[in-house]
Amino acid sequence: MRPQTLLPRAPWVLLYYTNSAKGEYLLDWKIALDPDLLNEPKRELHHTIAHELTHLIQWQQNRIRHRALQTKYAYLYAQKIPKGEEACDIWTYARHPDLVAPSGYLHTPFEMRKGETSCEFWNRKFRFYEKHCNEIHELAKKAIELRARGCRRYIKWFLDELRLIL
Ligand SMILES: [Zn+2]
Repeated sequence: MRPQTLLPRAPWVLLYYTNSAKGEYLLDWKIALDPDLLNEPKRELHHTIAHELTHLIQWQQNRIRHRALQTKYAYLYAQKIPKGEEACDIWTYARHPDLVAPSGYLHTPFEMRKGETSCEFWNRKFRFYEKHCNEIHELAKKAIELRARGCRRYIKWFLDELRLIL
């Protein structure tokens, strides 16, 4: 069966190739992914794809929101999702603990240890996010609730709380 008969009025999401980043949101309904992602740990793969799809939602929310509000993820759409990379990662984390992985945008005070290679550093950081994925997921949900109640410094709040579990 052809996909358009399965999805009568839904727009297509077009997938492109990128080798300049793990993933990129292009424009409209277009996402680019690097196939090398398939060599990454599952959590990194899921996070990257979810991050790019969250960008798509940030830019297309007027088209998606009315249906999304009928789902169990309505809490993610109760307010207009702000644009930007940091908000993108907070909304990605808030969707599911399995989507929690180190962010390239939400800067935590992770420091490289003396004698540690960059690979060891990344692995240590990755293990931290894996171990604390449920807490980080809950923190992201709380940050979104805070923003809904008018707190404009919800990203700072999230990072301050994250530092407490480092
Ligand atoms: Zn991004």
